Amino acid sequence: MQRYSLFSLARNALTSHRNWQAAWRSPPLRDHYDVIIIGAGGHGLATAYYLAKNHGITNVAVLERGWLGGGNIARNTVTIRANYLRDESLPFFVKSVQLYEGLGRDLNYNIMFSQRSMIDVVQTYPKMRDLKRRMLAMDIYGSTYEPISVAELRRRIPSLTGGGPDSRLPIIGGMVHPNAGVARHDAIAWGLARGADDYGVEMHQNTPVEKLLRRSDGSIAGVATPRGDVFADRVAVVVSGHTTTLTETIGLRLPLRTYNLSAFVSEPVQPFIDVVVNCPDSGFYLSQSDKGELVIGGATDPQQSFRRGIKESVFEETVSGMLELFPSFKRLKLLRQWGGSLDFAHDASPIVSKCDVPGLYLSCGWWGGFKAVPAGGLTLAHLIATDQPHPLIESFSLDRFNRLDYVIESGLTSTR
Ligand SMILES: Cc1cc2nc3c(=O)[nH]c(=O)nc-3n(C[C@H](O)[C@H](O)[C@H](O)COP(=O)(O)OP(=O)(O)OC[C@H]3O[C@@H](n4cnc5c(N)ncnc54)[C@H](O)[C@@H]3O)c2cc1C
Repeated sequence: MQRYSLFSLARNALTSHRNWQAAWRSPPLRDHYDVIIIGAGGHGLATAYYLAKNHGITNVAVLERGWLGGGNIARNTVTIRANYLRDESLPFFVKSVQLYEGLGRDLNYNIMFSQRSMIDVVQTYPKMRDLKRRMLAMDIYGSTYEPISVAELRRRIPSLTGGGPDSRLPIIGGMVHPNAGVARHDAIAWGLARGADDYGVEMHQNTPVEKLLRRSDGSIAGVATPRGDVFADRVAVVVSGHTTTLTETIGLRLPLRTYNLSAFVSEPVQPFIDVVVNCPDSGFYLSQSDKGELVIGGATDPQQSFRRGIKESVFEETVSGMLELFPSFKRLKLLRQWGGSLDFAHDASPIVSKCDVPGLYLSCGWWGGFKAVPAGGLTLAHLIATDQPHPLIESFSLDRFNRLDYVIESGLTSTR
């Protein structure tokens, strides 16, 4: 792999940047691999990367129906954090943030990771109690969450001028999560793809998987695509909101529902917010991108669907909540809006698991799965390579729904 550095940049400048190697190859699709990964999003690519890097399994094809990194990895609002509550979730998300800290160096790719902190603006006492409970749980696992006063909150976010004592929901305090940050979504996908390609993994874009194929003994045989059937003894479904559309092709029903989650950005403005701001009581969150745009998100659509857009009522609720706390933002023009399909398990925790079909592995239920990309890939790769769950995902098995052993973890509802 051609290394990226100041020297390679300078050397390539001398030839007008015409001699850069392609970041990944486009080899012909073969009809047999050791492992097929369906979905070239963050989790699929991270799985491919760690399968090759940690387990030496390189005869791997990643099949992507569109273009690499064009799904939710390209659509999310890039918040990375580990302020979870449950003993099952916390070590996983703490590990994921730690992996993010070293990922740029590991991949030799600038993922623009900026650990800028997240501040929760709290407006109700039940929410404050909930967050303080989280703080105590997080303390055990080495993740930091600290209360701050209203005065300190306003000092750190000067544009937060609403929510005064006479308002409908006055601000009563804040919580700071210093480990939280943001990273560039495309760079995560491209860096992981380049890293996996360097080990020999093949990425095949424009290759939609139409159905899963089983042998007569019930085990997985491979997948059907418009480019022909492709066979493998191990197949991983890593397609985010579209998991059920694939698993139902072999009659496998999962405890998942798909919802549209939307976001929007403002026109670029001068830098004025240097943290991720989360307002769980008002139902929105925002951060400022390196380009200067405000990146704003709210809740999911109330109904299940596979649509990817913005719903007028969700948009209105998000904007009205935001303007109560940040009245000066009413002068901002909005630039773009979009949505993405996410699948939710009934307990709001992910499923990284084997299932009743031998050789078939699932990674789904990623409600807020951008932050989980490195640990999700690391642990799914371990599962595929060893057929045993990594200790970090033992509680995220599909079997927990049979045992009623749920991991009820809603995270913080307005920040994914
Ligand atoms: C608006 C929005 C904001 C979000 N904000 C955050 C956030 O701030 N923080 C956070 O942690 N998470 C956030 N998320 C969630 C996060 O984006 C997802 O949980 C995560 O990206 C899912 O994993 P992925 O990257 O592998 O998914 P994807 O990138 O969606 O990858 C799945 C891939 O599978 C492909 N695929 C689907 N069906 C097939 C098929 N039949 N054959 C072949 N390929 C197929 C898709 O094209 C896609 O490329 C947000 C999501 C949205 C929509």
